Amino acid sequence: MSFFNKADGQDKWKEKYLDLLDEQERSAESTKEKEELLCKTIVRLTIATAGLDPLLDPHLLRVRDQLKSGIDSQILKNELEKFTDSVAQIKHTPRQSVEIEPLFNFLLQHYTTEKQQELLKLLKNKAETAKFETSTQLFIAILEAVEPDAAPPSSGILANHIDIGIVSRQLLFFLERIEIPSVFDQQAQTAKQLLAAGNQTTMAFESILDKSFKLLLKIKQHNQSEQQDIDQFLSHITEQLAVLDVSIMGASTAAQQSAENRNKLDQSVSEQMQQLQLSSTNATNLEPLKAIINSRLASITKEIQEHGKKEAVERQKTQQQLDNLVNKIKEMESESSELKSKLKIANTQALRDTLTSLPNRQAYNERMETELARWKRYRTPLSIIIWDIDHFKSINDNYGHKAGDKVLQLIAKQLSDHSRATDFLSRFGGEEFTMLLPNTDGPSALILANQLRQTVERTGFNASGASVAITISCGVTQFLFDDTDETAFERADQALYQAKQEGRNRCCIF
Ligand code: GH3
Ligand code: MG
Ligand code: MG
Repeated sequence: MSFFNKADGQDKWKEKYLDLLDEQERSAESTKEKEELLCKTIVRLTIATAGLDPLLDPHLLRVRDQLKSGIDSQILKNELEKFTDSVAQIKHTPRQSVEIEPLFNFLLQHYTTEKQQELLKLLKNKAETAKFETSTQLFIAILEAVEPDAAPPSSGILANHIDIGIVSRQLLFFLERIEIPSVFDQQAQTAKQLLAAGNQTTMAFESILDKSFKLLLKIKQHNQSEQQDIDQFLSHITEQLAVLDVSIMGASTAAQQSAENRNKLDQSVSEQMQQLQLSSTNATNLEPLKAIINSRLASITKEIQEHGKKEAVERQKTQQQLDNLVNKIKEMESESSELKSKLKIANTQALRDTLTSLPNRQAYNERMETELARWKRYRTPLSIIIWDIDHFKSINDNYGHKAGDKVLQLIAKQLSDHSRATDFLSRFGGEEFTMLLPNTDGPSALILANQLRQTVERTGFNASGASVAITISCGVTQFLFDDTDETAFERADQALYQAKQEGRNRCCIF
């Protein structure tokens, strides 16, 4: 129990210690804050009081510079002593509030419209109660008060009791503190010299004052118009950038195949943009900034245009290649279909006899191969007939070769017309024909052969008005167990030989 009590006590001390630390930290922070605030105040005061007296200015500048690099008590102490000495030397000069009085007296006599009078009085009151943070603010307020009609001040009413020197100094003070556009440099220089010279006559001074105020008004208007100029310029840039953005997007969708080009463009544009940003950050004057921005924009635009051109060339090239390809494919298609039909014709021609239009010997060989394979597999009967025209040579000799051709065509037609669809008839060569008869045994083949022979015999032929008898003979055989196409053919040929031997116009079977 006592242990816990001790621990409680320890915790309390610890808490107190930590609280103290916090407090100290807060206090240190607040001191630092105050110090910073004080520094800021002194810097502002040195800015606001600069130009008040040439004796004080170097001190003010040094104090400001030293405060920028932190507070060094010893240096500041030395500086303060020197500053106090200088103040002692100038303490006979009138205070700022005394200077405001003659300035406003002058302005009130000088700018006499009801509105100007009313505004100036208000301003005077405000200035006297130190409501303006800087003299420049006071100056701007004065300009706004006298600007509304900017009428030339009535002359000759400058009261004798106004201290010309003080008013001159005040105006000089304003002129030195505002930023003067270069176009007004010359005029400002002259006004400053005149104001600094002092000791003018009242009339001359009045004219100097009038000129100075007019100059200040012009500067203010110029600054306003320059602001408008900047706004206009910026909106112009914004528009141009928007257009560029659209171009880039357009380019990106169009340039599908040129990712490389697109990357290059992106890189280049972003580099240009970075340069632009850098230039605008570092710029202190509008004109050079404008020139830089315009040249960068021109360069970006050129870059995009070139990219667009490259893209167009690429697209055209690709389109051309595509067109060529399409044409080539079309050409190849037509060539291939031409080839196909040629091949078909060639195949047909290769397997057909041109005179009789019957399958030729090549076709007979191919069909023989198929039928032989089928016969070997199923062992269904297969027969073969070899036809030969009787005394064909004498037909050629007596009636001419053409008549012989006609006889060949006629016999081919008779044989073809009267044979079965499954029987394969071909012109084997010369005046010889062959027939392959699947599913047909020898005797059946012989019957069919005799029917065909009789049909041809009955047909007859007319040559030069004379009736010419045409007969055909054949040899028939059925495929035997160990036959080849050659052995079977040989046997049929022997049967044919026999038919010829036996007097022709007959069919023999072996
Ligand atoms: P055989 O009864 O013994 O068969 O006597 P053949 O005169 O028919 O026999 P041969 O072999 O002596 O004569 C065949 C003739 O067929 C010789 C050839 O000029 C003729 N010939 C072969 N092919 C054609 C052809 O395509 N057209 C014509 N006109 N004649 C042909
Ligand atoms: Mg023959
Ligand atoms: Mg013959």
